Order: sequence, then structure tokens, then C-alpha cells
Amino acid sequence: MKRALLLGLGLVLFGLFGFSLFLRSYTSPAVDPAWRVEGANGIPQSAVTVRYTGTSTLLFSDGETSWMIDGWFSRPGLIELLFGEIEPDLEAIEYGLAQNEVDQLAVVIPVHSHYDHAMDAPEVAKRTGAMLLGSESTANIARGWGLPESQIQIAQNHQPVQFGQFTITLIETRHFQFPNPAVAERALGNPDIREPVIPPVPALDYRLGQPYAVHVSHPLGSWLIQGSAGYIQGGLEGYPSDVVFLGTGGLGTQTAKYRETYWDETVERVGAKRIIPVHWDSLTGPIQGPFTGPSRAASFLSDDGEKNLSFLKAKGSEDPALRFETLPRYDPVILFAPASD
Ligand SMILES: [Zn+2]
Repeated sequence: MKRALLLGLGLVLFGLFGFSLFLRSYTSPAVDPAWRVEGANGIPQSAVTVRYTGTSTLLFSDGETSWMIDGWFSRPGLIELLFGEIEPDLEAIEYGLAQNEVDQLAVVIPVHSHYDHAMDAPEVAKRTGAMLLGSESTANIARGWGLPESQIQIAQNHQPVQFGQFTITLIETRHFQFPNPAVAERALGNPDIREPVIPPVPALDYRLGQPYAVHVSHPLGSWLIQGSAGYIQGGLEGYPSDVVFLGTGGLGTQTAKYRETYWDETVERVGAKRIIPVHWDSLTGPIQGPFTGPSRAASFLSDDGEKNLSFLKAKGSEDPALRFETLPRYDPVILFAPASD
């Protein structure tokens, strides 16, 4: 009798253990496999290339000048995010930069100051000699990490800055608006970081700061990076772009009207036909190996991914001229090839 009871208890524990592993496993990301492009074999000299790490971390290069959006490689786990403190993971940063095959950058630009965009940028700037360009809040993250003032540049709304042949303009925008008011207040309320941030700190100490859309023009083409799925009505007027790197995280949890307006104010407003979705992968998934979607536990709580995917697919079938692309991890993809002569 006692043995049967122990056996029963053992089975229950084993089941619970298995179930918790299952909940912590990852779903596949909500992107269409047909959108996937492969890394280029052989890159023509002076082509503009892009490499993707995940979330909205992107590396652009024309062979002469390289620079990054966000430069985020640490992947703190759910427990640390919710109940603990976080800090840059130096090994992950070293690994990420090596996978991107870069040791010199002109500039690193966090699109806003949340941890998944700005936390690692000061260390990336330290290691690559880059300028760190962003809001006052981002500057305080850099100061807390000991990045010299000579490497910190405060962004001026609509003021283009030149790095090599890249003309980069930061345009004030809004963060994705969380539909849950309590979440919105926690993540977006009281946005400014007024003092240097010295990690380890709770994840939410990386306050929002000023979010930016980033417009880039280069002799070979133009593009826009909208890292977070927010918008300001008319904010991107006058920034025509061939390509949009379109932040989609959370979009599926918003109303259909929000999604439509976001699309109109971003993709339609700049007239892009080539769309590269970003920020669709897990924030806690590993930094190496294939991209993952949210953990199964998170996917039970939200159908964000599927809703967002069907929205984008519907856009694609409305306009056959649109081209969706998802980037491989770390491998360079040609964004613009030089005109052959
Ligand atoms: Zn954010």
C-alpha cells in the first residue's frame, strides 16, 4: 500500500516536472517560413549588408563603415526578469559580436532604453570604439556602465548625422502601446532615466526613455527601422524608404484598428515595398542557434503571434508588390547591391 502511494506520488512529481519543462520549452516563431532569406555567399564590394541577431539588433555595413541598432545579446531568464536583477552578460556580448564578425563600429543606436534594446549597448560601444547615440535616458545607462562622455551622443529629433556614407536620422516615435493598462503603466509610465543606471538592477529600471524610429539613407538605398510597434500620426512623413524593418512584437495583442494604423503610419507612410519583420523572436530564448517563439507558458496566455502573422499575410495578399523577408541569424544578407557597370 505504502509502495503504491510512493509510486503514485513519484509519478505525479515526474508528471509535474515534465509539464514544467514543457511550459519552459519554446514554440516556433510566428513568421511565414516562405519569407526566410538565406545568407549571401560572396558579397560584392561596397554592397550594403545587414546581419540580424534577433529582437531588433541589426548590424549594417557597406564594407567601409559598420554600425548597429541596439546591440543586445544578453538573454536574462524569466525569473530574473520578474523577480530578480539583470545586468549585461559579457560572454553573450563577446559571442554575439564574434558571430556578427565585427570588432569596430562607428555607432550603436538603441531604439529606446528598455533592457532588450539598450542594456548592452554601452559595453558594445566600449568593445568596438563606437559612439553611442540615443536619448538622455540611454546616456544614463551608458554613464552607469562607465562609457566615457566622449563616446556618448544625445540624439536630436530629425537631425541627420553622418557616419561614412550612411546618413542616419532619429525620429521621435512612440513605443508599442500595451493594451493592458497595468502593464502599460509598469513598462511605459514614468519613462525617464534621470540617474546613471548601475547594474545589476531590476529589469524595469531600464525605463523606456524616448523611443526613436531610425531613418537611413545611403547612396545605394534608404530604409527605416521601427523597432517597437508604435507610431505618431504623420511622424514619418517625408522619410521615403525602400525597406522597412518592422517591429511586430505585441502587435497581435492590440486591436485590429491599432494594427491597421500602425501599418499605415509606418509601411504606407514611407512607401516601402520590402518589409523585414523584427522583434518577433523570444526575449528569453538562447542567443545561439535558431530563433524561437515565446515559451509555451507565454503562448498559452496570448495568441499574439498567430494574430500578427495572419495580419501580415493578409497585407501581403492585398498587395502582391510587397515582399516580406525574415533574416537568418548572424549571416550577412545583401540589403542593396551596387549597380553593376
Ligand atoms: Zn520596449
